[in-house]
Amino acid sequence: MPELPEVEHVVRALSPVVVGRRIVAAELNLKRIAPGVSRPGFDRQLRNSLITEVGRRGKYILFKLESGQVLSTHLRMTGKFVALTVDQTLPPYAHVIFYLDDERRLVFCDMRQFGRMRLFTKPPKELLALAPEPLSDEFTEDYFIDTLSRSRRPLKHLLLDQTRVLGLGNIYAVEALFLAGVNPTKAANKLSKPRARKLYQAIRDTLQEAIDAGSTLRIDLADGNGSYFAAPERFWRVYERAGEPCVKCGTKIRRVVQGGRSTYYCPKCQNR
Ligand SMILES: [Zn+2]
Repeated sequence: MPELPEVEHVVRALSPVVVGRRIVAAELNLKRIAPGVSRPGFDRQLRNSLITEVGRRGKYILFKLESGQVLSTHLRMTGKFVALTVDQTLPPYAHVIFYLDDERRLVFCDMRQFGRMRLFTKPPKELLALAPEPLSDEFTEDYFIDTLSRSRRPLKHLLLDQTRVLGLGNIYAVEALFLAGVNPTKAANKLSKPRARKLYQAIRDTLQEAIDAGSTLRIDLADGNGSYFAAPERFWRVYERAGEPCVKCGTKIRRVVQGGRSTYYCPKCQNR
């Protein structure tokens, strides 16, 4: 599943393809991708729309239209966009096709069919409920420390709650806790302020590092197979390293299950 840094790179790849383009027709081939709108309604609402901007809120990709409407897309497990010229054949699982005014087609493919699209003018509650963007000025150290102090949940759980701290999936939460030297099972409100500051910085560093490394994703919307997210080898400090020596101290990395998700940590380095 793409995490926030990967979605950021999808947005960056989409921008030159769609911004300033007009949607000539919108074909919804699998209704469940856009619940709440009929297939003709989908086309009617999007037809002749000029895309003025493409951005992101959390993992929701937002296409802003000249009409004031927004088309949001959540990729979920396997959703992806590809941009095709007229003579390229459609890839498998092409569930939504946007015909653009430069004769290209922006195609949304999704093998698992969990991806979702939605058209709105006022942001729906799942967007409004999201915590501040983790790399924005609104995600302050004070906000983070205050959020921790209000929760007795284990830190790992709190870090995954997108309404409290946005942007960390399982991998990045585990990595940030390791960087900060914090035990993932510790109650959030029991973390000392200096350690909370370290964790705050570790969250920003982990996400920024992942975004900076994103050039290795090689997202190429023109690749009909849309192989992005697939290949590149990533180096995780503790994630999926159970039994291996800690990169800092050599102690064996442990794995525990929290809320059904695997957590990896160094018992020696993460003792706070
Ligand atoms: Zn260690």
